[in-house]
Amino acid sequence: MLWRGRLGERRGRGIRQAYDIAIIGCGPAGLAAALLLHKDGHAVTLFERFETPKPLGSGLMLQPSGMAVLDAMGLAGPIAKRGARIDALRGLTETGRTALDAPYSKLGSGEAFGIGIHRASLFSVLYEEVLGAGLDARTGHTVEDTRLDGTKRRLVFADGQCSDGFDLVVDASGWASRIEFGERQGLLPFGALWATLTVTADDPHAPNLLEQRYRRASQMVGVLPIGSRGPSEPQEVAFFWSLRRDAFERWQSTPLGQWKDEVRALWPEVDFLLDRITAHEDLTFARYAHRSAHRPYRERLVRIGDAWHSASPQLGQGANMALLDAWGLAAGLREGRVLREGLRLSASWRRDHVDLYQAVTAAFTPLFQSDATIWPALRDRIVAPLSRFAPIAHLQAQLMSGLFGFPLPMLGLEMPDYSAIAASMAARASAEDQS
Ligand SMILES: Cc1cc2nc3c(=O)[nH]c(=O)nc-3n(C[C@H](O)[C@H](O)[C@H](O)COP(=O)(O)OP(=O)(O)OC[C@H]3O[C@@H](n4cnc5c(N)ncnc54)[C@H](O)[C@@H]3O)c2cc1C
Repeated sequence: MLWRGRLGERRGRGIRQAYDIAIIGCGPAGLAAALLLHKDGHAVTLFERFETPKPLGSGLMLQPSGMAVLDAMGLAGPIAKRGARIDALRGLTETGRTALDAPYSKLGSGEAFGIGIHRASLFSVLYEEVLGAGLDARTGHTVEDTRLDGTKRRLVFADGQCSDGFDLVVDASGWASRIEFGERQGLLPFGALWATLTVTADDPHAPNLLEQRYRRASQMVGVLPIGSRGPSEPQEVAFFWSLRRDAFERWQSTPLGQWKDEVRALWPEVDFLLDRITAHEDLTFARYAHRSAHRPYRERLVRIGDAWHSASPQLGQGANMALLDAWGLAAGLREGRVLREGLRLSASWRRDHVDLYQAVTAAFTPLFQSDATIWPALRDRIVAPLSRFAPIAHLQAQLMSGLFGFPLPMLGLEMPDYSAIAASMAARASAEDQS
């Protein structure tokens, strides 16, 4: 595996101290942190609640911010082999008015683009590396809590057993983390139904766009191409339908045909995808939470990824932020003279970016998911027209790319080499065409 990134290299030294580290959770944050910390010489043990680690849910977008981490880890190639190139986000209202038009080209950074990918693909790229590196991954371990014990911290499992003591516990167990820091859970009123659906080249969908249709902000349907999970696997899209949390039970008892009519009325062209949904169980309901802790660390314990900060996926940043957190944690432990200083440094390098995106996501979410009429009116009549002006379009592209607030220089990361990623994706597409 190739490792790039200037922070450690520039200062020309390795880690100051090797720690015994437990990581809770095999999501993007936990897996990336495990690989980075192991590479730095720390002894890493992963704990995951599932017997067989697996990602839940459908697809997500890898932004230039998250790809910068994967590229620095030498993993951009395997991601490019599985993901779909996304050149823009397009959203229209029910009357055909443009409510969102956000092309990556407005970023003005070479040929950056987004990558739609199935969660399982991102997971397997990272998990194969973890297994290849011979890391200790203990599955079937649900961590309920942690306990400080002298100069060590132990994990407390669901069966009441305790682990050995670790120098540091990294909580990467996602937004529903059981290891409480005392902040509110913050469930949002809207979530979404998600399905992964197979598509062919003949299907009438745009393979390089994340497309959405809105009726005010109370209804939203979207399609995100997410590539294919392997060389002989079909191309897939993630299909999503916004739904209030308190309407989920009612939806479950509504005939599927009635719901499909509602979707079709908003976006008739997705009929071919609706035909591929045959039961309620084909869709998974995802709840969203908005919360964060100002200080993500305390004595021998640190939170990264959604366990530190989670938000609605409206801006598509969560997994990318999780990767940046993992990188920041490893860099902080390299730089800190003692553990606490390392944790303080890593949090300080990430905090502004986290706070910025928490605030912006909280501001943007009601424009796309709410019952109020004022927010979609603001979106359609002010935000969308303004975003046609070059400086605003650039700002919008920066926001979407995860680069608003300049998180990369802070962590010694560089923009990924998108010409190499594009070439690798094009080569895969042409190989698929020939076979
Ligand atoms: C519908 C939806 C769409 C999204 N779209 C995007 C997108 O386009 N782009 C984007 O960047 N982000 C997106 N996100 C957000 C993204 O999925 C999360 O931000 C990201 O997965 C966070 O990674 P994580 O590793 O912190 O946590 P998670 O991915 O939640 O991983 C947590 C891991 O910890 C394990 N675990 C949990 N509890 C315990 C326990 N008690 N003991 C042991 N193990 C435990 C879990 O099984 C899991 O393996 C989306 C989220 C949703 C719900």
